[in-house]
Amino acid sequence: MSIRALFLGGPGSGKGTQASILSKTMNIPHIDTGSLLRTEIASCSENGLIAKKQIDNGQLVPYQIVASMIKCRLNKPDCANGFILDGFPRSLEQAEGFEKILKELNIKIDVVLNINISEDILIARMAYRKSCPTCGEKYNTRLKPPKQDNICDNCNSSLIQRSDDSEETAIKRIETYKKETEPLITYYNDQNLIVNIDGNQSIEDIFKDILSLLKEEKNNDNKKIKA
Ligand code: AMP
Repeated sequence: MSIRALFLGGPGSGKGTQASILSKTMNIPHIDTGSLLRTEIASCSENGLIAKKQIDNGQLVPYQIVASMIKCRLNKPDCANGFILDGFPRSLEQAEGFEKILKELNIKIDVVLNINISEDILIARMAYRKSCPTCGEKYNTRLKPPKQDNICDNCNSSLIQRSDDSEETAIKRIETYKKETEPLITYYNDQNLIVNIDGNQSIEDIFKDILSLLKEEKNNDNKKIKA
């Protein structure tokens, strides 16, 4: 099945985890603007320095920086059969800009998966989040702990916590999400693209829901998702 999907959901809603599983299942790229920006920061470029300041404050990185990264990424051949976008667009300004990028690339979005979850759970999840700096595997020391304390199951590297996953920054990121990103639910609902997912479940159950809702979508509108 080929699909061009976006994930919406607050920081810590599990959209990155679900996007990664869906990308492996469907064999299409998972494009995550947060990770693209962290790579830019690691390269110490001028854009990376601007991005770091914003990220550490729980605020959005300027649109022009994100837009050029996205356009360049969507133009790569591996996106020809679809892609899963995670973390973009993140504001109405970005969604409107994204329409222009889609037009230029002559493609359309099939579905927007919106993960709903309560705020208390979001904060708790971010505070316990860790990831592997080598292979990128994500853990949660409460919900999905590594087999050995602080060591990646895949490659034995020591796990790290993102600098913006502290409780203080987590609260700021949720505020930014509510102000900037939540209006996108109405924006995409008006385009009949939103599929709501209950994020207050286990990773496996959320993924089961996603697959069955995507199948339903496909049956409802065969043109939306091409088998
Ligand atoms: P994430 O890994 O998706 O939680 O993103 C981490 C941080 O990167 C966010 O809190 C923002 O500061 C920044 N970021 C990620 N995606 C975007 C985007 N589309 N636009 C602006 N900033 C972004």
